[in-house]
Amino acid sequence: MSALDNLLNDLVIANRILAKEDVVDAYGHVSVRHPDRPDRFFLARSLAPEFITRDDILEFSLDGKVVDPNEKRAPYLERFIHGGIFESRPDVMAVVHAHAEDILPFGLTGNTPLRPVIHSGSFIGSNVPVWDIADKFGDTNLLVANVEQGQDLAKCLGSANIALMRGHGFAAAARSLIEVVRMSVYLPRNARALWRAKQLGGEIKYLSQGEIDARNRGYSPYSVETWRAWHYWATKAGVGKLVTRPTDPKAGKAAAKKPAKKAKPARRKK
Ligand SMILES: [Zn+2]
Repeated sequence: MSALDNLLNDLVIANRILAKEDVVDAYGHVSVRHPDRPDRFFLARSLAPEFITRDDILEFSLDGKVVDPNEKRAPYLERFIHGGIFESRPDVMAVVHAHAEDILPFGLTGNTPLRPVIHSGSFIGSNVPVWDIADKFGDTNLLVANVEQGQDLAKCLGSANIALMRGHGFAAAARSLIEVVRMSVYLPRNARALWRAKQLGGEIKYLSQGEIDARNRGYSPYSVETWRAWHYWATKAGVGKLVTRPTDPKAGKAAAKKPAKKAKPARRKK
């Protein structure tokens, strides 16, 4: 398989994981930037992520237009979230948009910011801005339905990893599919831990900036630990057979090497 085939294969896996982990349901989506054309990205046609296969993935320009003029299938209405973020953030290679309920309260009140409180939530970053579509667009149906709205959301996201969308959901941006999936899976878990801690009362102890930085320093999208989660989630979601070990561009061919066969234990002579 070519590198692009592998990437689109990973996009199918990402869809299935997000569905299995209840980050998305019938709605919500995940995209990946074209590796050779930074002005394009891949996103499925309008279909629940749980059902997506390779054939459902379409190529888009950053203004949300389907590249193939013969494509008749409907795209997601909110594809402008992805285009807006890819346009404003050259460092971002993958984007998730979802409506996970556990994060919603934190976009409704200014009392408690959604920040990392558990180690696995550290990757959401210390600043999680809240985007309110009404600030610029007044009364809407709350959906990001055009280029201007996508760009405004991306502006609010700024250099952060996550933006909450008031009364709607969140957008997550990361350097790879594995990273954006990981972040999107742990974001609602971090929100639940924070929510429960609030119910216990007392002052909330968030992760310090130093702790968040230390977690980031130890992170690699190609490490054994990161891939372990991807493999586990994919298998749980029924697409374990699609998983291929990614090549670490920094490590060259070494990371793509198959693990050496275990040497048979020497038989003891009787
Ligand atoms: Zn939405």
